[in-house]
Amino acid sequence: MPTQTFAPTTSLSKATAYQLPVLEKGSTIIVVGAGAFGGWTALYLLRNGFNVTLIDAWGAGNSRSSSGDETRVIRSTYGANETYFSLNVRALELWEENQSRFGKKLFYNTGALWMCYQENTPLVDDSLPFAKNYAMDYAYLNREAMAKKFPSIFTDDLHHGYFDPFAGYLKARESCQAVVEAYIQEGGQLTQQFVTPGHIENEKLRSIAVSSGQTLTADLYVFACGSWLGQLFPEILENVITCSKQEAYYFGVPKNLTEEFNRLPVWIDVDGEDFYYGIPGNANRGFKIGVDKRGEIFDPTHGERTHNPEVLKKARKFIGHRFPALANAPLLENRVCPYENSPDGNFIFDRHPEAQNVIFLGGGSGHGFKHGPAMGELVADVLTGTRKSPALFSLLK
Ligand SMILES: Cc1cc2nc3c(=O)[nH]c(=O)nc-3n(C[C@H](O)[C@H](O)[C@H](O)COP(=O)(O)OP(=O)(O)OC[C@H]3O[C@@H](n4cnc5c(N)ncnc54)[C@H](O)[C@@H]3O)c2cc1C
Repeated sequence: MPTQTFAPTTSLSKATAYQLPVLEKGSTIIVVGAGAFGGWTALYLLRNGFNVTLIDAWGAGNSRSSSGDETRVIRSTYGANETYFSLNVRALELWEENQSRFGKKLFYNTGALWMCYQENTPLVDDSLPFAKNYAMDYAYLNREAMAKKFPSIFTDDLHHGYFDPFAGYLKARESCQAVVEAYIQEGGQLTQQFVTPGHIENEKLRSIAVSSGQTLTADLYVFACGSWLGQLFPEILENVITCSKQEAYYFGVPKNLTEEFNRLPVWIDVDGEDFYYGIPGNANRGFKIGVDKRGEIFDPTHGERTHNPEVLKKARKFIGHRFPALANAPLLENRVCPYENSPDGNFIFDRHPEAQNVIFLGGGSGHGFKHGPAMGELVADVLTGTRKSPALFSLLK
């Protein structure tokens, strides 16, 4: 099973990586997948002077995709992993910059409360030096201070909390659609088709087939296909990207407490096993709770999006405990979203070992959404030869 979302493994067993291609401006690039990774990548490639076509089978932020829920957390905390901390710092800048370009609010800076059970919580503690260096300090809250600031949270079994004032949440589906709208306005081509990769000859993918029966060609193909990557390239990725069924629930808050619950920040309960987390907002769908523990293996195309009663039971028990006012809260909605897990929880940005003109971009592993713009910018920088990709994202590590 892959590692938990909140702390990908950082060790590198090999330092080697495939040589990623560098392209002339004006080269043709087909990006397959308009989720958080593919949409932003298409936009940044376009802004860097490439001739881009974006293709998605079911549309940006569709309900089968990992990016298709209402909201996603954005936070820099990644334990001792500075690569993701700094990637997120850049992502925060790009979310701010692009939401003003789009004229649409997508980032909500509610802050994030980390609820810690032990005096030492490496996932949070090991990020504190980075927070200091980036002038993004967190506030330590002892149990009493936490209970006073957030009266709806039961704190007796917690040791302390850390409040990160720079974190918050993103509108998820809406962002994907806003990115694609901007991409079209800025001159990008979009089509809705299911893509099947063609043959590889002389180390090049010759073409792709789309569901209408056409064959398309380009100088480079970026496959940002989320949970589908393992099925599209089974010879390379079948055991690299696995898809698990993940659940988020929306509960109804008592009518006299809506304001109090609306004031809550993003919260993460660092119990070390299930990692429950919650996000306010959600277009009034309800009080959202997510369960980060990996669910059963799932087929992203055919899998039914019905909840697992065992997971719901655990989630209910948890919210009744942590938020006593919600002990009898009714379930209003639930969502099943797939995690596209890499073996160690790290993203994958690398080329096909047998095709120099095929890039794999994915492995978001339950934490990729927030990094979308920073990953799009990185891909464009690497393909224009101005930056190297972190070795952490290599297939060869
Ligand atoms: C329940 C849940 C909670 C999460 N919470 C967070 C969070 O709080 N913060 C965070 O940062 N991240 C979070 N994530 C992770 C994040 O949502 C994902 O890592 C990210 O959305 C992945 O984006 P993607 O573009 O790689 O994949 P997707 O969003 O799945 O996009 C892939 C796209 O490719 C298209 N596609 C696939 N195959 C083909 C094909 N053959 N032809 C054409 N199109 C194709 C699909 O239609 C889809 O639109 C969460 C994920 C889940 C499921």
